[in-house]
Amino acid sequence: MKILGVESTAHTFGVGIVTDEGKILSNVTDSYTTKTAGMIPDEVVDHHNAVAEKICTKALQDAKCTWDEIDLVAYSAGPGIDPCLWAGYHKVKEWAQKYNKKLVGVNHCAAHLSIGKIYNKLNDPCYLYVSGVNTQTIVFEEGKYRVLGETIDIGLGNMLDKFGRIIGLGFPAGPTIEKLAKKGKYVEIPYVVKGMDVSFSGILTKVQQLYEQKNVSKEDLCFSIQETCFAMLTEVVERAMAHTGKQELLLVGGVGANTRFCEMLHIMCSERAAKFYKVPMDLAGDQGAMIAWEGFLRKDESGDVEVKPHWRVDEV
Ligand code: AMP
Ligand code: MG
Repeated sequence: MKILGVESTAHTFGVGIVTDEGKILSNVTDSYTTKTAGMIPDEVVDHHNAVAEKICTKALQDAKCTWDEIDLVAYSAGPGIDPCLWAGYHKVKEWAQKYNKKLVGVNHCAAHLSIGKIYNKLNDPCYLYVSGVNTQTIVFEEGKYRVLGETIDIGLGNMLDKFGRIIGLGFPAGPTIEKLAKKGKYVEIPYVVKGMDVSFSGILTKVQQLYEQKNVSKEDLCFSIQETCFAMLTEVVERAMAHTGKQELLLVGGVGANTRFCEMLHIMCSERAAKFYKVPMDLAGDQGAMIAWEGFLRKDESGDVEVKPHWRVDEV
């Protein structure tokens, strides 16, 4: 069985094809970027519409298969940016009708978790999901995902991107912040953990103030943001592991591409004799293969659900 998955919740349009054993046959993405500002939804929609056919054709070519061999079409129904979700939904609806395929709408967050789990062949990890919009500590309990802690305002990726926009790094800013941080040293900024939750908006305000006062370098701000925010998440996820007794930690989401973040989590896990897992770069961010795999897992329980912009992982 072959499943084609389509991702379009935010800046990335992706098509991936997987088998029912979780083998990734292809995974093609094209992401909207801008040098001037953050994401402008209308521009992102234009981007997705412009690249969709090309990306799909390439995904089929890479997987060496044709539409005839596709058994199921899965798409990201949410959570995400409303116009981006509709752009993806209209495309998959068109393809499903044209090629007569069943549609399965899946939760984007659950897809990040599932692809990380199959890739690392894990049983029952504690998940740390850190992307643009999402920052959550999650476990699977009694047949459902349970969010043990999360950001109470913005996701870490979005915070990094907003900070990048303020200091002129373009979008997405995460990779550039990581580079600049290598040359920085620590300056004091707020560390905000509230129980199992974290908050990033006050940190953003503080670093913006420091930047505008012009007495701290971009490098020092990048270093301090990384050290502080990653330490906050390492603290809460360690508490989650201690409380639930989980021995495996899986980091997913685009911010998981950060080497320093992985290093901190790795150290925390080794100190408590647990194991740290991540996903390779091409599976850390948004892409279609994870949507295809989640579609296979949910093929009997889900169908065409249109779009659900605020669909939480604990509501799946
Ligand atoms: P996602 O929403 O899962 O596609 O993740 C996208 C987010 O990951 C964006 O906010 C990026 O700035 C962030 N990101 C990507 N690479 C890195 C990195 N090396 N360090 C920190 N953040 C990153
Ligand atoms: Mg994502």
